[in-house]
Amino acid sequence: MGWDFQTDPEFQADLDWMERYVREEIWPLETLAEELDHDGLMRAIEPLKQPVKDRGLWAAHLDPELGGQGFGQVKMGLMNEVLGTSPLAPFAFGAEAPDSGNSEILAIAGSPDQKERWLYPLLAGDLTSAFSMTEPEVAGSDPTLLRTRATRDGDGWVVNGHKWFSSNGSIADFLILMAVTDPDARPHQRASMFIVPADTPGVDIVRDVATMEHPSHSWAKYGNHAEIYYRDVRLPADALLGAEGEGFLIAQQRLYPGRIHHCMRWLGVCRRAFDMLCERATYRESHGRVLGEHQSVQNWIAESAAQISAARLMTLHAAWKMDTQGVSAARTEISLIKFFGAQVLHDVVDRALQIHGALGYSTDLPLEEMYRRARWARFVDGADEVHRQAVARQILRGYDPPADHVPSEHVPTRREAARERFAWLLETVTADD
Ligand SMILES: Cc1cc2nc3c(=O)[nH]c(=O)nc-3n(C[C@H](O)[C@H](O)[C@H](O)COP(=O)(O)OP(=O)(O)OC[C@H]3O[C@@H](n4cnc5c(N)ncnc54)[C@H](O)[C@@H]3O)c2cc1C
Repeated sequence: MGWDFQTDPEFQADLDWMERYVREEIWPLETLAEELDHDGLMRAIEPLKQPVKDRGLWAAHLDPELGGQGFGQVKMGLMNEVLGTSPLAPFAFGAEAPDSGNSEILAIAGSPDQKERWLYPLLAGDLTSAFSMTEPEVAGSDPTLLRTRATRDGDGWVVNGHKWFSSNGSIADFLILMAVTDPDARPHQRASMFIVPADTPGVDIVRDVATMEHPSHSWAKYGNHAEIYYRDVRLPADALLGAEGEGFLIAQQRLYPGRIHHCMRWLGVCRRAFDMLCERATYRESHGRVLGEHQSVQNWIAESAAQISAARLMTLHAAWKMDTQGVSAARTEISLIKFFGAQVLHDVVDRALQIHGALGYSTDLPLEEMYRRARWARFVDGADEVHRQAVARQILRGYDPPADHVPSEHVPTRREAARERFAWLLETVTADD
């Protein structure tokens, strides 16, 4: 009977170690983020990497030949739950976005030369990368609408287009660019991926877009989102990553596991917000009792605990399905957790902020930052609406219209059928009367 909710004891010991390590060594650095700035933080984190490597937990998303562990998605999910508790934790574990995702793309699709030139220096931390796909003019939720064009030019390519929200684009050494190579091909075979060194002539990074997370204007900082024009950018033949027309295929291979990692990181955030919510409920008094004795606060606690538990089980189930039956088999489960997890993240952080009142709204607690960061979860990585649609379509495939359009559960129709089937019984009962 293969139905087991336990983590194997050896890996649980790793998770326990991670939890202590992240809480004791990394959480304190968060409070110095402004004083140290990104470079200072990275200097502080540098010595924290070796113990992670010694424990065999560094860049665990990669295959063993690239220094990772080749862990399946369940283990990766459990690790990401711990990493999600701090925005700084992924740096100490070689798992920070977008470099981790880009390294996966290069590992999946890169040629030996591309790996030598871009992947290994990226893994060593000697290069920084960005992923450049979203365009302001068309819906990112439907990437078949992409307009950026790469046209053949002798052996090479010429690229023209306009992108934005290329995270880390303004500090990247290279960009992984998605561009249309054959507009007449089937929608998901139109685009290809290219490796574009950031200093290639024609790559014009015009600004970093200020956001809800970083509302003041800044330039060339880690975590910024660049707006980029590609104007007659000439690329050699070996800039093509994977085969022509395989852009979506490669992106999907990275996105599906990525969604498991995202959801588990969101649960790490939820856990921290939930602890704050519960702690506040124990001592803040209003109207003659502590907040935890008010029914609405009790509802928040119970609701949050239920949502977190449901999202966690759903995500680990999706991960297990990926590990045991492959990515395709887990598509519906992955869509379910994408929109459900994003909503749980929002709801739990919102309640934790609410119970702290003005303190929660202030920067004296990390909740306002969590809240701002939580907001994008509902539309990136496939807008929630698109995932809901995918789930509903998949589910509806398992249903057929009933005969004559009479609902299968229609009681008078069922009664008629039952009367026929059990006529002998009805006769006996009537006769006994
Ligand atoms: C913090 C952050 C980092 C990012 N990093 C990167 C990056 O590194 N590289 C990159 O290329 N991009 C990046 N993006 C962009 C991100 O991928 C897009 O924002 C996302 O794909 C959504 O596309 P869009 O913004 O064009 O919204 P749209 O596609 O225009 O969607 C807007 C809204 O329309 C609605 N909608 C869309 N389709 C449907 C539908 N079928 N049914 C019902 N409603 C629908 C949804 O409500 C959706 O939220 C980042 C974005 C953020 C916020």
